[in-house]
Amino acid sequence: MAKTIGVVLSERVIAGLVIDNTIDGDLCTFPPNADDESALIELHTDGLVKVICEQVICARRDQHDISAIGVALPGIVRNGVVEDSPNLPQLKGARIAELVTAELRREGLDAPVNIVNDADGMAAGLAATHGKLDSMIRVFTLGVGIGFGRYPFAQGVWEGGHTCVTLDDKETYCGCGGRGHIEGIMGHRAMRLRFLDMEPEEVFAAARQRPAGPETDRCMKFVHLWHKALAAGIANSIHMSGAGKFYLTGFNARFLEISVLKEYLHQMIKMSPLQAYTVEIIEDSSRTRVLGAAVTAEQSIAYARKKAILASAQ
Ligand SMILES: [Zn+2]
Repeated sequence: MAKTIGVVLSERVIAGLVIDNTIDGDLCTFPPNADDESALIELHTDGLVKVICEQVICARRDQHDISAIGVALPGIVRNGVVEDSPNLPQLKGARIAELVTAELRREGLDAPVNIVNDADGMAAGLAATHGKLDSMIRVFTLGVGIGFGRYPFAQGVWEGGHTCVTLDDKETYCGCGGRGHIEGIMGHRAMRLRFLDMEPEEVFAAARQRPAGPETDRCMKFVHLWHKALAAGIANSIHMSGAGKFYLTGFNARFLEISVLKEYLHQMIKMSPLQAYTVEIIEDSSRTRVLGAAVTAEQSIAYARKKAILASAQ
């Protein structure tokens, strides 16, 4: 029985024990209070590493034969190093795999640590829960930022949330500072910057208001732009990697109207071999994310082992 621990770092740190691709028992969470959104932003790297390790130790319970630990976090991650993370800027440049491994060793837990982009982790979690560990799936996570994940893991950057979807010079709201990005239109933070006087919930409500109020027109235009941006992101991915299954999740998936999205997709994708795509809204669940981080760690360690055996046979 493979025993791994998955950890997710977003607005909170959440960890769980995974036995044979299933979460075993309750998750461990910091901060325990879900309303305390800024607790992590205020922590520097050492503080974050400590919090991650505390949750791993909590999730481990009395198990001693942990084979791997997977940590999912927002940002560009390569070889255990966070190359950039616009939503957790203190992590930029952090050799997070090394730091977590060393801290866990001090706590008596010696196991390989694998770092993965959180949206890739989500894609792996969805593949595991939907019995699709043998097919390719892609996921857009609609939250503070916009994540893009794909499973199975493939070498590359895959920052699909920063795909350029407009040439409008005024589109400058992306958290990374880049112009014309999906996140600059769809991200929660970007929406708050665009509508300084309204919360995103109010924007979507005003767009639906009948009879139309003073803000209805402006908000309706934005709601269409919002859907169009996602359709463009999906269409670009399809034109590069082919059709297939797309999951849409994250706390702002609640704003999606699937019929509007499908209409724009229909307008953007016309080549018949590329039309076998499906889109599905799926509830954002911490358990899926934790499972994905653990599954990715297990697979990455199995892959490294296989590579070492092949190398020694040559
Ligand atoms: Zn961007």
